[in-house]
Amino acid sequence: MCLEELFNILREFRDSRNWQKYHTPKNLASSIVIEASELLELFQWTRSREDEEKVIRERRGEVEDEVADILIYLLFFCDTAEIDIVEAFRKKMAKNEAKYPKDVKIDF
Ligand SMILES: [Mg+2]
Repeated sequence: MCLEELFNILREFRDSRNWQKYHTPKNLASSIVIEASELLELFQWTRSREDEEKVIRERRGEVEDEVADILIYLLFFCDTAEIDIVEAFRKKMAKNEAKYPKDVKIDF
């Protein structure tokens, strides 16, 4: 499924429920953060990489739901703000390439 198909599904879902009025930039930005927090909540109290992998294995459906929620609100935000998400991605990756050259090792 391509990005344009995702946008078409989302627009049809939103518009058929007359929810455009709720889709302000602030509401959508808030929703992205809320859904990202729901994803993080699944890992609350984990203490190791093994614990985190166990969450992904055993609560995979919930993880997928939150990932989808984040994507849905991100796409709604881009639609409302008229941001070309592919172009934004390209520009940001160019900045990342310049900021973090591959031959310079950064050890966190
Ligand atoms: Mg959610």
